[in-house]
Amino acid sequence: MIKKIAIIAEHHRGQIMPVTYELLTLAQKIQDTGLPEICFFILGDDIETLAETISRDTGYAVHGVHVPGLSHYNGALYKKILPALFIEKSFDYICAPNSTSGMDYVPALSIALGGSCITGVEDVIQKDGTTCFVRSMFGGKISARFAAKSTPVVLTLQPGALKAFSPDKKRKGLLKKSVRQIHDDKMIFTGTRPSPSEGSGLASAEVVVSGGRGIRESQNFKYIEMLAGLFPRSATGGSRPICDYKWITYGKQVGITGTTVSPKLYFACGISGAPQHIEGMKGAGFIVAINTDPDAPVFQIADVSIVEDLMEFIPLFVETFKKKRREEDERNDVGDPFLA
Ligand SMILES: Cc1cc2nc3c(=O)[nH]c(=O)nc-3n(C[C@H](O)[C@H](O)[C@H](O)COP(=O)(O)OP(=O)(O)OC[C@H]3O[C@@H](n4cnc5c(N)ncnc54)[C@H](O)[C@@H]3O)c2cc1C
Repeated sequence: MIKKIAIIAEHHRGQIMPVTYELLTLAQKIQDTGLPEICFFILGDDIETLAETISRDTGYAVHGVHVPGLSHYNGALYKKILPALFIEKSFDYICAPNSTSGMDYVPALSIALGGSCITGVEDVIQKDGTTCFVRSMFGGKISARFAAKSTPVVLTLQPGALKAFSPDKKRKGLLKKSVRQIHDDKMIFTGTRPSPSEGSGLASAEVVVSGGRGIRESQNFKYIEMLAGLFPRSATGGSRPICDYKWITYGKQVGITGTTVSPKLYFACGISGAPQHIEGMKGAGFIVAINTDPDAPVFQIADVSIVEDLMEFIPLFVETFKKKRREEDERNDVGDPFLA
């Protein structure tokens, strides 16, 4: 059976966000065999060029909904426009990103349509004729499967969980445009501020050493700094809970709601490896994880897994590293060339 799938595109500052193309991979996995009937929806002020880009990149139909004045995300407007759009058309699945905005409007949309809502989807499995959606739970310790009982199924996809669909340049999808003159003064856009991570050096560091709840108390962040001190061009970071506890500033948070880092080397110390953290550091060249729990999910993506107490391991490692470096310097020391 051909499934009818709607994809809600995400855009920011005139750019289509990569997760839009990852949603296409999700749609194709939902269909399993054959080609699904897919239509993209994009909302905003002056979205004509973006709608054309998606249609050219994917070859699928795109419905551009021009909403005068909607130049930035506005939850109140999305929650009015989307149900009206989807009540007119019947889709089996409506797919959106698991982003700040997606997480805001998707539950409201599924309630308005009387459908099912499954958020944070990471993969799709077809089992005995049933389409199951896979997502992590309990900080990544459990991988759960959900099957929907009612349609439409409104889903959010975890950004980065699936590889983006690679565009087929030969096709161009149908373009449909409509205008919604709608206004809502309950929510107004007041501007943006640069992220506090600018200045933390996280995004440009070659080595990032991050600490998580496993450091147990704020003064133990010194172990993270001690390890980072071994490397030039390094920066320290952390998981969200230790920012919430005010042990470090939010500018140092790594993850989907913090900074995305892709250093050559990443140390995850006392970090369990929740999907929201992994998403922000999985682009690192080499990952070392230190955790007392041998089953910590972070070990699934680590290149080197160290099952140790970080408070014991780091000082020992730093001492050994410095000793080796001193020995090496002594071996390479050829004496003062002017005395020869
Ligand atoms: C919408 C949303 C957005 C989020 N965004 C982010 C985000 O951007 N970034 C982020 O990090 N999180 C984010 N989170 C939170 C995320 O889901 C996890 O709760 C969080 O990442 C867990 O942090 P943690 O690994 O430090 O703590 P925990 O999950 O509590 O893990 C602590 C780990 O330390 C280990 N440990 C304990 N003692 C020691 C020791 N002495 N030595 C070594 N290891 C030890 C434990 O075995 C455990 O694995 C978000 C959550 C939501 C719902």
